[in-house]
Amino acid sequence: MALTIHSRQTWGARYASAYRNRNASLPAREVWLHHTAMRAPAANASLEQDIAAMRAIEQVGQDRFGSGISYSLIVMPSGRVFEGHRIDGVGAHTGGRNSIARAISLHGNYDVAPPTPQQLDALAQLLVHGHRSGWWASPSLAGGHRDAPKASTACPGKLTHGLIPEINRRAARLLTTPPSTSSQAVSSRPTLQEGATGPLVTALQTWLNRMYPSYSQIDLRPKRYGPQTVEVVTEWQRRSGLTPDGRVGPASWREADRQGFRP
Ligand SMILES: [Zn+2]
Repeated sequence: MALTIHSRQTWGARYASAYRNRNASLPAREVWLHHTAMRAPAANASLEQDIAAMRAIEQVGQDRFGSGISYSLIVMPSGRVFEGHRIDGVGAHTGGRNSIARAISLHGNYDVAPPTPQQLDALAQLLVHGHRSGWWASPSLAGGHRDAPKASTACPGKLTHGLIPEINRRAARLLTTPPSTSSQAVSSRPTLQEGATGPLVTALQTWLNRMYPSYSQIDLRPKRYGPQTVEVVTEWQRRSGLTPDGRVGPASWREADRQGFRP
């Protein structure tokens, strides 16, 4: 299954997107795995059900820390991934490490049931995606919450904790898998820049909105590569180590494909 990250806008986040509005530098040094220990929707839940769950998780964070969602990203039993706090902001998840670490939380209680195959699949893909996007230095989990220094918790649950080495091995295998798109497909694509229109523009904008939920969301309605698209493309290029010129030419297409873009 292809990785899909739903933005805060998609699920209707209501509260602040970083603890006390503090910024955290990218890439993060560590990623810790958590569980919410809450009742979660089933693996076959609809998007609407997962969105309702996100808002419930956010309310818990708001009540406990006053800063909305505590985790960087949430993985539902369905395998859908949701943006938590902004990726370059401080969360409230792993005591003493919130400014240097990010947290991925599996929604559910994994002391009582194992994570779903969709969740494990999404988690491995997310580790690689975050690494390639400059969110964290290594495409692997530093451990479960309970492994963090001075932590005193059962999180992420006994039925998840033992799977961490295998999750990290899966991410390592994904990282070395060559991208499936042929160079022919890339070289036949036109360079896109401000003013461009057409289905490839919409495909690019949709991909950026989905894969980079922390950036400003591009308004798809004008059906045009406008100034907002230039801005988001430039930021994506900067974070991906490309020349940040706001135009998508062969080098940018190659990188987009490597990061999972499929027109
Ligand atoms: Zn935890």
